[in-house]
Amino acid sequence: ESQLTENFLELMKWADALRRLKIRTNADTPRDTKQAIEFGAEGIGLCRTEHMFFEESRIFVMRKMILSRREEERRNALAQLLPMQREDFVEIFRAMGDRPVTIRLLDPPLHEFLPHEEEDIKHLAEKMQVPYRQLLEVVEDLKEMNPMLGHRGCRLAVTYPEIYEMQVQAIIEAAIIVKEEDGIDVIPEIMIPLVGELKELQYNKDIVLRKAREVIEEQGVDLNYLIGTMIEVPRAAITADDIATEAEFFSFGTNDLTQMTFGYSRDDAGKFIKEYKEKNILEKDPFQRIDRKGVGKLMEIAVKLGKEARPDIKLGICGEHGGDPNSIEFCHILGLDYVSCSPYRVPVARLAAAQAAINNKGQSK
Ligand code: PEP
Ligand code: MG
Repeated sequence: ESQLTENFLELMKWADALRRLKIRTNADTPRDTKQAIEFGAEGIGLCRTEHMFFEESRIFVMRKMILSRREEERRNALAQLLPMQREDFVEIFRAMGDRPVTIRLLDPPLHEFLPHEEEDIKHLAEKMQVPYRQLLEVVEDLKEMNPMLGHRGCRLAVTYPEIYEMQVQAIIEAAIIVKEEDGIDVIPEIMIPLVGELKELQYNKDIVLRKAREVIEEQGVDLNYLIGTMIEVPRAAITADDIATEAEFFSFGTNDLTQMTFGYSRDDAGKFIKEYKEKNILEKDPFQRIDRKGVGKLMEIAVKLGKEARPDIKLGICGEHGGDPNSIEFCHILGLDYVSCSPYRVPVARLAAAQAAINNKGQSK
């Protein structure tokens, strides 16, 4: 190793000794997971499960599932996806060893998995052996004017509980496999996205509990797991005392929380935010740095209320802000347990967490 590398590793060691925040990563492939570990990630804070279904061998089955009007057909398609999904988690658990892994149940609007061009829809109709018109009607039916504020997150599972059932089965079975074959004590953290109301969380948590218990009982093993939620809808933040009664952990989804707090579309706002910065209306892009007065205020409320209801609640952040040094300092002051960011931002996050500890010495919670 060169002198430079040695010095760098020494510096990172100092940083690690100083920081209080844990650094996790957002990763959903074994490759990213391994990369993140090399950079010093101490767990996965967000394993998104949507990208997995775009793989060549899966997207057709996924589409069949989505386009089926009958539950039984959807269940058949999901049964086909189950072994692949299980293998996804086996590989990720193996790569992570005994580090914690938070897996988020399916989040995007289902329309995102479907083709949009006429040619592609025709092609799919042929492959599915259904009339084009009929397929088009279903595709159109799933379209939304505001999909990011629409039928997504845990709202999906209220309509299609079988999707979350399949994913929970895959998570629990994978954890059992890795526990038995590799001797790793995996404690999966199952995360429910886009919760805004306690009963919504309860409904989804019931699905998770029922399925997890069923699998564990069937296999006659012991397995611990956690159930928690993202805090990314403003209503969840300001009712966090309610939400915490049913959640063992919170992970702040500051991408959606910023979108919904400002009312800015996370997909389009970049265009005018640029001008806002030029004209001094905004100092920083709130999607890149936590806006302490608004989004940060909601986080503060959520932490306070969440801890009142459940003093040992685990707290993290998995929005893009988890990799921004200024936002990391805010998370340190707030008393979060960890920040989670993309693999390449892990080293910077380690340094920023150390800097935050130095800057706030004697005041941190
Ligand atoms: C978020 O909303 O901050 C988040 C991490 O989830 P996603 O970006 O996948 O919506
Ligand atoms: Mg989100």
